[in-house]
Amino acid sequence: MEEGATHAVMTALKGDARFVGGSVRDTILKRPIGDIDIATPLYPEEVTRRLEAAGLKAVPTGIAHGTITAVASGRPFEITTLRRDVETFGRHATVAFSADWEEDSRRRDFTMNALSMTLDGEVFDYHDGLRDLRAGKVRFVGDPALRIREDVLRLLRFYRFHAWYGRGEADPAARAACHASAALLPTLSGERLRMEMLKLLGARNPLPSLAMMAEDGVLARLVPHARPLEMLARLIKIEMTADPLRRLGLLIEADAAAVATKLKLSNDQRDRLIGIDAPLDLAADAAAQHRDIYRLGHDTYIDRVLVTAAITGDVDKVKPLLVAAKRWKIPVFPLKGGDVTALGVLPGPDVGQHLKALETAWVMGDFKAHRDALLSDLQHRVDATLPKT
Ligand code: ATP
Ligand code: MG
Repeated sequence: MEEGATHAVMTALKGDARFVGGSVRDTILKRPIGDIDIATPLYPEEVTRRLEAAGLKAVPTGIAHGTITAVASGRPFEITTLRRDVETFGRHATVAFSADWEEDSRRRDFTMNALSMTLDGEVFDYHDGLRDLRAGKVRFVGDPALRIREDVLRLLRFYRFHAWYGRGEADPAARAACHASAALLPTLSGERLRMEMLKLLGARNPLPSLAMMAEDGVLARLVPHARPLEMLARLIKIEMTADPLRRLGLLIEADAAAVATKLKLSNDQRDRLIGIDAPLDLAADAAAQHRDIYRLGHDTYIDRVLVTAAITGDVDKVKPLLVAAKRWKIPVFPLKGGDVTALGVLPGPDVGQHLKALETAWVMGDFKAHRDALLSDLQHRVDATLPKT
């Protein structure tokens, strides 16, 4: 992790800081590193002061939680002051700053997430997190039921981290605690649920976690009508990238809109989710395929090919269809409104009607007609409809 920007931030904090969270896990496992979280005993004001003294930008992104975001070389680093729980009421924990690394580690969710690491790579491990990380065991710090009662989101995080780091059987006591609290999931904010759920679904193979979630009565709280996981297994085999939203779209058998609302998806995500599993004719010939792509756009077309194949099991058709789709560029309809008004049609609904009729004919003719031919068709149409003078 001795990349320039990281180095600059850690040096600015003058050694009073360690890496925590994902970057520690992934450094240890030699996986690609995503976001970098930093913990420090320094108070936020002091963090800001030291960052600015080193010429770095400091943004108070979560000052109530003691979080300052440092920006170095355009890259964000979340720096959070060590904390200890004072009281815990559901997810509204009252926290106080702390200067004690061990105390801070006790309020973290899993042993592998309670690790911290210095810039030099020295690892501090207060709960046997290294052993668990290497063994693929997601283990709560402390009693699972208690930790979930403090913050119900942790039950979803349990399956999320299992999807990314777990191997073999998951901790039965933790699963029992998740099962017991599953009914409380809908009390969490949509944003938090969405973040965890999409991260979970973005794992290379989320199937073992999802199977456990189904068994433990957790999946039904998020996706009330879920399709059989065999279908998701098929999608994972044929997809090019692990696309969490596409996977979610396949998983939802009915009422995608309700799931979109529950997870507070953006409008774009919501539209994609709702439109993702309308069936597509995988036996379409080239011209019919072109019409599908023209109507849907490439991205939606690919979504629907993959999802239809995953549902029907007709997976052999996928590759030829996607290869052909990739080669085909969506043509632009060669006429514009100005072409119609130039022939004497007054601006208004008639213009659109002429264009629509010609575009439909052009699409049905596999997009072969050129502008000249279309203009001549347009002339005929206009001649036939304009009042004779
Ligand atoms: P990611 O790779 O998704 O960022 P992460 O482990 O860094 O994974 P974050 O959500 O960024 O996860 O949180 C950073 C750290 O904060 C976690 O590793 C964990 O120690 C602690 N943490 C986050 N959320 C919780 C929670 N709900 N309960 C307890 N500790 C938490
Ligand atoms: Mg993180």
